[in-house]
Amino acid sequence: MRVLENFINGAWVPSSGTTQLDVKNPATGELLARVPLSTAGDVDAAVRAAKAAFPAWRAVPPVQRARYLFKLKNLLEQHREEIAGICTSEHGKTLAESASDFGRGIENVEHACGIPTLLMGQSLEDVSSGIDCNVVRQPLGVFAAITPFNFPPMVPLWFLPYAIATGNTFVLKPSEQVPLSQRRIFELIAQTGLPAGVVNLVNGGKDVVEAICAHQDIAGVSFVGSSNVAKIVYRRCGETGKRVQSLGGAKNFIVIMPDADMEKSVANACESAYGCAGQRCLAGSVIVGVGEAYERVRELVVAHAKAAVLGDGKQPGTTLGPVISAAHKDKVLSYIEKGLQEGAKLLVDGRNATVPGLPDGNWVGATVFEGVTPHMTIAKEEIFGPVVCLMKAKDLAEAVELANASEYGNASSIYTTNGKSAREFSTRVQAGMVGVNIGVAAPMSYFPFGGQKGSFFGDLKAHGQQGVDFYTERKIVIERWF
Ligand code: NAD
Repeated sequence: MRVLENFINGAWVPSSGTTQLDVKNPATGELLARVPLSTAGDVDAAVRAAKAAFPAWRAVPPVQRARYLFKLKNLLEQHREEIAGICTSEHGKTLAESASDFGRGIENVEHACGIPTLLMGQSLEDVSSGIDCNVVRQPLGVFAAITPFNFPPMVPLWFLPYAIATGNTFVLKPSEQVPLSQRRIFELIAQTGLPAGVVNLVNGGKDVVEAICAHQDIAGVSFVGSSNVAKIVYRRCGETGKRVQSLGGAKNFIVIMPDADMEKSVANACESAYGCAGQRCLAGSVIVGVGEAYERVRELVVAHAKAAVLGDGKQPGTTLGPVISAAHKDKVLSYIEKGLQEGAKLLVDGRNATVPGLPDGNWVGATVFEGVTPHMTIAKEEIFGPVVCLMKAKDLAEAVELANASEYGNASSIYTTNGKSAREFSTRVQAGMVGVNIGVAAPMSYFPFGGQKGSFFGDLKAHGQQGVDFYTERKIVIERWF
């Protein structure tokens, strides 16, 4: 079986780690590859290559750096279907979901192609007589990114294009559960002729993360994953004096007002909850029906859950793929058990779901709970599976209170036809990304992406102008010529 290699200093090299994990197709159970758990020594080799490449790379004019990204964008476009297929094989989401995942990734490469403009500073003539002041943006050195399993092509591309366009060099640690999309993307990066050492990839898990956080020659780290790990990375990077943007988990509330267009709203909310098998950081998890909306919301959510077509994401007609692993399936099922123990009522039960011909898939059917109260575990913790918790609120104020009681604050949405309710909600709800009649409020590449409260640790968010800010030092030059 193929054992994946690391990409260091422009070449594919074996990991020095002696332990390997299976990478399996979550729908079929097929073994796709083995991924090595690399060591601190492998991280050091990648960082040394990135550090050595930095002086020459930062001296390449931004417009020329952008040309590598134009080449990369073209290559990624040419391999769109292939990489979406790899994503579905390793992650399980449907081909349409993989295409959208990868498409959002490509848009970040596209946005970073505008780096000459994005990098511009500020200047003012005569801050005092004969004295001018200029602010220039400079790269800092080596950056690293540590990414989760749920968007295999996209999340690394939230970081890599901006890090290198700004003149830094880069080390990626992709999720050990889904290393194959990035393997292919790095093969395409190699075809752009980018100088050796500018980008590097180290496969692995916790030990690689710890080595990245500890390494003295890394200037900054972008992390995306669960909040527990996001907090550890944030703390460890602080201890070692690094910049850090650490994006964590989520528990997203969706509020449906009585004046909403019910059919369209619930369909959209259910797409948010069940799309990618609920494994999106922007997935709706709790759907709150306000006042008289509740009964109709309940009826429509149940109908949507029952209509979900569970199966292999590569098969036409599948609307709900498997969850990532057997271990994750057990975790989702244990949340469903916990919900029952704590008194919630199952309206649609996805526990014993099967798919004919695919006995080894990690299947969890679309599930709906009602009677969920704020103190229940399923109302508080991130389930990260196709499970909807229905709640009732008497009015908008109570719905906002329910959402704001969450320790998380990634995203939240309202469905309404009333502008005042929409405004009230978006003003008061404590979430970094807010949707108005949009269930997956995902900012495009040219806007910042990130949550609040327990969903985000740091200040500069991912991509957009904030991504450029994260990857640059703003130096102030005050000058006088005698
Ligand atoms: P995870 O936290 O298990 O893993 C994320 C990364 O951290 C992986 O690369 C993994 O190897 C590493 N890691 C795991 N455990 C570690 C540990 N104990 N010490 C050090 N490193 C460790 O997350 P996941 O299961 O891969 O991804 C799902 C999570 O990511 C969900 O919580 C989801 O909400 C979150 N997520 C958040 C965003 C966002 O924008 N906020 C986006 C995507 C995913």
